[in-house]
Amino acid sequence: MSYLELAGLQKRYGNAVAVDDVSLSVEQGESVALLGPSGCGKTTTLRMLAGLIEPNRGTMTLDGSEITRLPAHKRNMGYVFQSYALFPHLSVGRNIAFGLEERGASRSEIEKRVQEGLALVRLGGLEQRRPKELSGGQQQRVALARALVIQPSVLLLDESLSNLDAKLRDAMRHEIRSIQRTLGITTLFVTHDQVEALTMCDRIAVMHRGRIAQIGSAEDIYDRPATRFVAEFVGRANVLPLARDAQGRATVWEQLVPVEAAENADLFVRPQRMRIVPVSEPASGDAARLTGRVLRSVFVGDHVEVLVEGAGGQLTVEMPSGSAAPAEGSEVAIVWPRAESRVFVREAS
Ligand code: ATP
Repeated sequence: MSYLELAGLQKRYGNAVAVDDVSLSVEQGESVALLGPSGCGKTTTLRMLAGLIEPNRGTMTLDGSEITRLPAHKRNMGYVFQSYALFPHLSVGRNIAFGLEERGASRSEIEKRVQEGLALVRLGGLEQRRPKELSGGQQQRVALARALVIQPSVLLLDESLSNLDAKLRDAMRHEIRSIQRTLGITTLFVTHDQVEALTMCDRIAVMHRGRIAQIGSAEDIYDRPATRFVAEFVGRANVLPLARDAQGRATVWEQLVPVEAAENADLFVRPQRMRIVPVSEPASGDAARLTGRVLRSVFVGDHVEVLVEGAGGQLTVEMPSGSAAPAEGSEVAIVWPRAESRVFVREAS
C-alpha cells in the first residue's frame, strides 16, 4: 500500500457528480499534480483529502490508517489556498505560528519553528509586517510557511500560484519544488496550468469530468496520451482526420498508420515531432510522410511555427528557431516517426 491512497472517491451535489470514482496512490515524498480544466473536480478532490468536504463514497488512507471520516484538524495536512487566506490583522510571524498555537506547541517551540519557516521561504526579518504590507509573492510564501511549520504529513496546494504574475510564478514554481524536494514532503498540487504540472511534479493525474483520465510522468502524458482528451488538453497537437472519401477509399491520412475501422478516428501528432524536408528527399521506411504547401512561417521566439496545407487539412510544424524556414507558397514534405502518431476515436457528440 502506498503512503497515501484514495480509493473510489465520489462526491455528488444533488444529481451533479463533481468527483466520480477517483483512485490515486501517492508515495511518500512524491509530488503529484491534479491537472484539468475548470470544473473537472480537482479542488473537490483536494478538499475531500483535507477533510473539508465529506465524500459520498470511497476511502482515503494515510500511512496505513484510514482517514476518511477523520475531522480536518486531525489529519495533519498543510493546505495552501488560492487566495492564501492569511489573517489580515495578524503579523506575518503570528500567521505562520497559527497552526502551532492551535496544536498547543510551547512558546519556545513556536518561536524556533516560525524562524525556521521564515528562513525556508526567505522572509527572514519580515515577521512583524502585516500581510497587506507584502507583495503577492511574499504573501504566497507566508501561506506556504504557515502550511509547512506544522510539519504536515501531506502538503496540499490549491492553484496557489495563479494570483502571481508570470515571472514570479515561474520563480515560485522552482522555489516550491526545491523546498518540496529538500523536505521530502508528500505533495498534492491542483492546477489547470500544464507548465506548472509538468515542471513541479513527479507525476501528473489528468482529470476530466470528475475522473482521472491518465496518471503518469510528464513524458508519459505528453508523448503517450491515453485518451483523446489528454492529447488535446496537454500540449498542442495536429489532429488529422482518418476518413474515407465518397467512394470508400482510404484518404492519405489513413495510409499513414495501420488502423482498422478508422472511420471515426483522428491521427494526433505533436508539432515538435514533425520535420519539414525538401519534397525531393526520399521517404524512409519508418517515417510517416505527407506533402503540402507552406501557408505561413511565424517566428515566435524560441521556435518557428510553419503552417502547411496538406491533402487532409492544415497542420502546424514547430521548427527550432535558427533553422531556415521554408518560403511561403513552397511545396514541402513533412516527416515524423510513425511511432509518434496516436490514433483516437471521435467521441459521439
Ligand atoms: P476550478 O479549476 O474552476 O476550481 P475544479 O476542477 O477545481 O475547477 P471543482 O471546484 O472541484 O472543480 O468542481 C467540480 C464540479 O462540482 C463543478 O461542476 C462545480 O460546479 C461543482 N461544485 C463544486 N462545489 C459545489 C457545491 N458546493 N455545490 C454544487 N456544486 C458544486
